[in-house]
Amino acid sequence: MAFVGLGANLGEPQRQVQQAFRELDAIAHTRVVRTSSLYRSEPLGFADQPRFVNAVAQVETGLPAGRLLAELQAVEARHGRSRSFANAPRTLDLDLLIFGNERIAAQDLVVPHPRMHERAFVLRPLLEIAPGLETYRPFLEACAGQKVERIG
Ligand code: AMP
Repeated sequence: MAFVGLGANLGEPQRQVQQAFRELDAIAHTRVVRTSSLYRSEPLGFADQPRFVNAVAQVETGLPAGRLLAELQAVEARHGRSRSFANAPRTLDLDLLIFGNERIAAQDLVVPHPRMHERAFVLRPLLEIAPGLETYRPFLEACAGQKVERIG
């Protein structure tokens, strides 16, 4: 069981995220078990860009983590994401947040995602759909200053 974080702030962000849910479900040996509500958040880092739409999906997969990451990157690429600079606007960003109980510290893949603990736009949707992850709630409470609004 894995959790994927989704974010978009260009084009039609809500539509990008809804479409990405379907594309996650279409990945081989993978199905989406649960999706969170959509949330609107203020950009972190580079502030002069549109607000983000964020969500989290719970997926069941038979793929190893590295293969799943490659599939996520292929979905991102189909959404026309270009990596111009860190925290730049993007049509679709997919992060592998959690992969079972695995801890991975490879060059191209770190799981649990190293910055999820400090991001309300990840933690709020995650806790909405994953009651088993209540251990993350104190991190969400520590993000109280970040504006994240549920939009449906
Ligand atoms: P970003 O531009 O923030 O989406 O970062 C993408 C880069 O982060 C890629 O080169 C990935 O290999 C790397 N990466 C490391 N850990 C993760 C993870 N848990 N989920 C997604 N990308 C990751």
